[in-house]
Amino acid sequence: MSALYADPLRARDPGRGAAHAPTYWQATAGPEPRDDGPLAGDRDCDVAIVGGGYTGLSTAMHLRRMTEASVLVLEANRAGWGCSGRNGSFARPAIGRVPYADWHTRWGAPAARWMFAEALSALETARDVIATCGIECDAMADGWLKIAHRRDRLDALRREQAILKERFDWAADFIDAESLAAAHVRGGEAHGALRWPVSFAMHPLKLAFGLAVAARGAGAIVHSASPVLAIEREGRSFLLRTPGGSVRARKVVIATNGYTLEALFPALRNRLLPVLSNIVVTQPLDAEEIEEGNFLTTDCMTDTRTMLYYYRRLPDGRILLGGKGPLAEKPAAMAEHRRHLLAVVARKFPFVRVPRADYFWGGWVALTWDAIPHVATAEDAPEIHYALGYVGSGVAFSIHAGRRLAERIAGTGGALPPQVETVLPRFPLAAFRRIGQGAAMRLHALRDAL
Ligand SMILES: Cc1cc2nc3c(=O)[nH]c(=O)nc-3n(C[C@H](O)[C@H](O)[C@H](O)COP(=O)(O)OP(=O)(O)OC[C@H]3O[C@@H](n4cnc5c(N)ncnc54)[C@H](O)[C@@H]3O)c2cc1C
Repeated sequence: MSALYADPLRARDPGRGAAHAPTYWQATAGPEPRDDGPLAGDRDCDVAIVGGGYTGLSTAMHLRRMTEASVLVLEANRAGWGCSGRNGSFARPAIGRVPYADWHTRWGAPAARWMFAEALSALETARDVIATCGIECDAMADGWLKIAHRRDRLDALRREQAILKERFDWAADFIDAESLAAAHVRGGEAHGALRWPVSFAMHPLKLAFGLAVAARGAGAIVHSASPVLAIEREGRSFLLRTPGGSVRARKVVIATNGYTLEALFPALRNRLLPVLSNIVVTQPLDAEEIEEGNFLTTDCMTDTRTMLYYYRRLPDGRILLGGKGPLAEKPAAMAEHRRHLLAVVARKFPFVRVPRADYFWGGWVALTWDAIPHVATAEDAPEIHYALGYVGSGVAFSIHAGRRLAERIAGTGGALPPQVETVLPRFPLAAFRRIGQGAAMRLHALRDAL
């Protein structure tokens, strides 16, 4: 199995012990920590967790901190192999991707405020996990710049600033183009910005490795190269079949996000849309380029497009920039997208003489019909829980969801807003999700261009 992944909507196999994708993170993470190897033989446990990314590992670690339950993680490839080890590295207070202006109309004021508080709390959970587990993941100083890529987007940023203040009592700073150039970066497509005082960038694979070590340190078993091929009810328990043996578990957590196969569990069928997000990392900039661009900021940066780009300066002076990928991970489409991302780097950072792609990779994020993640219990099986569908903003929230799932299983409370705790809604006309995505992407591209 290659590090790439054809299309989780059509794939029949989640992989088995595949190497990490050849990312900048993989090249700089240092040695991979030990795990418990592939499952060999049959085992019993209290809680089996399918998927060894932030969600699965955080659930395992928190559950072991809270209870004496025997906890076993079954990961098809290796800890952090999915999005958790290859993301854009921004830990932001996010719950999915609904614009703040819509929160009150969609959910009502009390629920909207709860959602906002939960998003902030998610960031605190991520921070707390990094601190209490002593994870060295190159966490940067706080700051998220949402940059107006066109002058006519400044009004929308000012409106957003007012909404954040009025409805959530949240202060984000408005920064004009001159201050942006003087204090952060003198870039292209940069007409001003809204700056959140919280959010931080880090090294995602080091974070995933650290979580795996913490989960095992707390007493969880982490099996790599152990794809779950079937989940079957057996009396009051569930049997999870892998190529090397089976696990009988009283409770199951599904933490497979964008890599969830349609066949994994019937209650999840037709409820996720995996979408590619791609990242390019350039060569290290030289001192002249950094000086010319006054590239001081280590903030997370995004722009104001609907199909937004996310970018940052890495500690060794490279630029990381990512955005929505093609519909499929086909070589020609990926090569075209790599060129496209380099062209975006050139527009946004005109002081880089010849941007070069030293690293380029993709990963599958999980979209949901209502654009928020769901941390829920399966309709017909109260012993099966899942946290899925982070809509591309799951670094902090997946770690937090793991904590909330552990609290639920341990029976210690920790409720989430009801909108998040409900089961994943089904996509209407689910068989045509990919076609619908193509149409939506063309529409968004048009809207961004107008
Ligand atoms: C390119 C990219 C950039 C991103 N950038 C950001 C960002 O900057 N900020 C942000 O907040 N979010 C970002 N995200 C999203 C974020 O990384 C994810 O939301 C988060 O990592 C989800 O973690 P997870 O543990 O739920 O899933 P994953 O990390 O994807 O883990 C799922 C795991 O399940 C395993 N699996 C699948 N099927 C099976 C099976 N049958 N049996 C056993 N194991 C199985 C897979 O091998 C995989 O390791 C990005 C994602 C991508 C792809």
